[in-house]
Amino acid sequence: MTNHWLNRLVKLQQKYTQVMRGRYGRFDDLNKLLLLVWLLVSIVSRLLPFHLGTIIEGLLLGLMFYRIFSRRIVVRSNENQKFLQKLASWKRFFNRRKNSYRYFNCPSCSQKMRAPRGRGKIKVTCHNCHAQFVKKV
Ligand SMILES: [Zn+2]
Repeated sequence: MTNHWLNRLVKLQQKYTQVMRGRYGRFDDLNKLLLLVWLLVSIVSRLLPFHLGTIIEGLLLGLMFYRIFSRRIVVRSNENQKFLQKLASWKRFFNRRKNSYRYFNCPSCSQKMRAPRGRGKIKVTCHNCHAQFVKKV
């Protein structure tokens, strides 16, 4: 009985390997993103009109399986590389924004000043006229 099931399992495994031979077969970063978006869409799916959620869910899953079973391994691999590069450049873009400065003038002497962005309201002392004021950066 146990052997019987084991045999079936081995055969299934062999069949899977056979089917996947020469196919991309990888759950790469792009597919992870597709799955993540699919999960998010499936959560809000019921709130969308015209079965839009079901359609988008189907498209996302379809695209994911299409990529996994695709025989054009190099093309799929390049897709994933491009996606990773885009992701890296987005990260750089947001980090630059976070690290950039906000420029403004002193309200009493118009001295040009700068402060790092994203700190909220800060108390500024002008180094020219020593006036103090609050600035949102
Ligand atoms: Zn000033």
